[in-house]
Amino acid sequence: MRRLIDHARAFPARWGGSGRDLKEFEAGQRPSTMFITCSDSRVVSTLLTGSGPGELFEMRTAGNIVPPYDPDAPTSEMATVEYAVCVLEVSDIVLCGHSHCGAVGALARGEDLRSLPAVRGWLGRCAPAGGFQDPEGFGPDCEQPVQRHALAQLDVLRAYPCVDRAVSEGRLGLHAWYYEVHTGAVRTHRTSTGTFSSL
Ligand SMILES: [Zn+2]
Repeated sequence: MRRLIDHARAFPARWGGSGRDLKEFEAGQRPSTMFITCSDSRVVSTLLTGSGPGELFEMRTAGNIVPPYDPDAPTSEMATVEYAVCVLEVSDIVLCGHSHCGAVGALARGEDLRSLPAVRGWLGRCAPAGGFQDPEGFGPDCEQPVQRHALAQLDVLRAYPCVDRAVSEGRLGLHAWYYEVHTGAVRTHRTSTGTFSSL
């Protein structure tokens, strides 16, 4: 923690040295992209996209799960997506899953989560109806389950009224990415082939 505090203390001076002025943010934010990913510490959205302040509107959840839209039971995630699309008018949403994801791995392997009731409840309600069973199995990186899971979350996102409207009007693009924490490689889902391939 000490190192983090020292780094934060020195941030204004460090940033000022970059020649860019944070003053402009007094007027508000205008990020072009919403980035949804897992809370996992190995995924650093701004680092892998080369983004600075004001560029990415982020939402991080356990397992990069997007809860289904339900206006009668609003969640922080629903509010965050709605704000990004309706107020900030982002032009793209990236939903980025990652290799070795503990949350997706727990779901895919059907792990016993009774000692983690909140985690179990959160993951359980988002588990895919057909499960993650893959006839060929999956390795420790959980590549197949994570990619399938990312696409499922994108489907949930697409069902949000504001997202559906913006996509239909051509104002919003949706993208599923897969990030390998052990290589740094990023792949994107291509609808033309139905597979994830290099960006
Ligand atoms: Zn994860």
